[in-house]
Amino acid sequence: MQKQDRIFLSSPHMSGNEQKYIQEAFDLNWIAPLGNNVEGFEKELAAYNNVQGAAVVNSGTAAIHLALRLLDIGPGDTVFCSSLTFIASVNPVLYQGATPVLIDSEPETWNMSVQALERAFSEANKEGKLPKAVIIVNLYGQSARMDELMSICDSYGVPVIEDAAESLGSEYKGRKSGTFGTFGIYSFNGNKIITTSGGGALVSNDIEALDKSRFLSTQARNPAIHYEHSEVGYNYRMSNIVAGIGRGQLEVLDERVRARREIFDRYYEALSDIPGFDFQPELEETISNRWLTALTIDPTQAGIDRTEIIQLLGDENIEARPVWKPMHLQPLFASTKYYPHEEGDSMSDRLFDHGVCLPSGSNLSEEDQNRIIRLIKARVEKKG
Ligand SMILES: *Cc1c(COP(=O)(O)O)cnc(C)c1O
Repeated sequence: MQKQDRIFLSSPHMSGNEQKYIQEAFDLNWIAPLGNNVEGFEKELAAYNNVQGAAVVNSGTAAIHLALRLLDIGPGDTVFCSSLTFIASVNPVLYQGATPVLIDSEPETWNMSVQALERAFSEANKEGKLPKAVIIVNLYGQSARMDELMSICDSYGVPVIEDAAESLGSEYKGRKSGTFGTFGIYSFNGNKIITTSGGGALVSNDIEALDKSRFLSTQARNPAIHYEHSEVGYNYRMSNIVAGIGRGQLEVLDERVRARREIFDRYYEALSDIPGFDFQPELEETISNRWLTALTIDPTQAGIDRTEIIQLLGDENIEARPVWKPMHLQPLFASTKYYPHEEGDSMSDRLFDHGVCLPSGSNLSEEDQNRIIRLIKARVEKKG
């Protein structure tokens, strides 16, 4: 491969079948808005995940927003949310005028800390102000500790929204990631494990709620020839062309999971012996789709830090990135309440300081991956 061909963290990887579905839409002149591909994609996505239904929309962010609307979250309400995530998990809480409370990660999954969530609930309960929902994120494909987290939320009677934008195709105890809460959401953004060029989905076993989400995402039009409106709606629905891409992508999702897991295994085999290199663990009884291979680098042991790795690869036109900057460290959430894993000891701060994501696309060639591995190894050896 030419040096000037950039290697991305995660780039679109088409199956070849997408165009068949798009062609069908063209042949039927079913370009917009809804149509056979939207219906088909919803059915196939629900079947894949073994849930009652799915509603496809134009982004994962929109799906989270709809879930919050369906749970009637508004001004004065609080919503607990994982702090170590992409901002799209939390922005919709702000759209609804509600107040987020941020929860730290724990070491075994890098996802929501059970003990931090317990502390947050117990304090909220004492203050007589329980959250109206909890948003649990599954980072880089790894499922959170759903049993423990769900049982706390259930004991307080608070619904869960599972942000499975990064974990489509992953499993927790034999069940598909994204199917544990009242609502789950997926993203088909360009960098995700499968993509529609942009899109998302809301999944649930509550068929009525999904119907309501379809209503809200098409401008909340009450049935009347002149369009009657009694509540605020959005223009969030996925188009029939975009859904065609999704159907072609869903056919190869399991292949994509296998490919990304192989990429993780290759990095792990080559680099995990280096002192100070620690890969994101996979919790027992879970299967991560390994959307991105993520690891932490302890500079005191490795003699090199994660920023050096990112720069080293950047100089070779290879994209690597730090682990998400936690929301509680973002200026936007400077005054937001935060519950660390241990009092005075924040796990996600450490993951951000030392964490790096390596190129992990299912279309990354073995040759390119080996080049990345050689570059990293050579730098570590030079330092040692
Ligand atoms: C990508 C992503 C989203 C939102 O997805 P969009 O489709 O880009 O709106 C939400 N949460 C997480 C954790 C994500 O990684």
